Amino acid sequence: MLTGAGVSAESGLPTFREAQTGLWAQYDPEELATPQAFRRNPRLVWEWYAWRRQLAAAAQPNPAHVALAALAQRVPECTLITQNVDGLHTRAGSVNPIELHGNLSRVKCFDDGRVVEHWQATADPPPRCPDCGGMLRPDVVWFGELLPRTALDAAIAAAQACDVFLSIGTSGLVEPAAALPRIALQCGATVVLINLDVPTRATPPLYAINAKAGELLPALVDAVWPTPDSIG
Ligand code: NAD
Repeated sequence: MLTGAGVSAESGLPTFREAQTGLWAQYDPEELATPQAFRRNPRLVWEWYAWRRQLAAAAQPNPAHVALAALAQRVPECTLITQNVDGLHTRAGSVNPIELHGNLSRVKCFDDGRVVEHWQATADPPPRCPDCGGMLRPDVVWFGELLPRTALDAAIAAAQACDVFLSIGTSGLVEPAAALPRIALQCGATVVLINLDVPTRATPPLYAINAKAGELLPALVDAVWPTPDSIG
């Protein structure tokens, strides 16, 4: 299973393709999420991530996150790969999701990439690395950067080995994550795309469903593994 920003939309976290709100409405996220943007204006980029970190911390996992955690408990071998950086899958009970794009809750040194465990917010952000004095940045993958090798290899191996691949709440525009459903298809899996703008024409073994993840996924789990309450 591969998830994207759409899975967290019903938790109130904006995706990259919808207008940002409040102070950030004037900025294009794809222009803030780059090393060039950080070099140009580190304070602006740091503050955008500080805002997103706060939003994520205040958000709650929604029924889509909960259903995916429940599904993984029922399927003997199930790998959850996410492009999300908000940590909501783990908070919903998913165990060790593959986080392809890092996690907002961690920071690392912009100069040497070392993850920094303890840091303090300063009046003049970004804060500095306690070891070398370099600027701290969020430990997420920005546009133009390489994905963590181990995470990407594990995601590709899972896509190659699976029987069914669900791609949920992702526009499929950001590579290399976007290649994973294609890899699964090439290796003989059934692939189901679920988001709000999937192409309506898909031929088996590719299926496309336009639906809200928070509505469809609980219904799917309920249909396959009905509980006494759900049998009418
Ligand atoms: P995207 O913004 O490109 O696309 C979002 C997709 O979600 C769209 O296809 C849309 O139709 C679908 N969608 C929106 N609401 C939905 C819902 N309720 N149910 C089902 N589908 C819904 O997101 P992306 O493909 O994940 O790629 C953009 C990049 O943005 C990724 O690198 C990701 O790391 C980053 N991002 C992450 C978060 C987060 O962690 N919550 C938020 C914004 C962006």
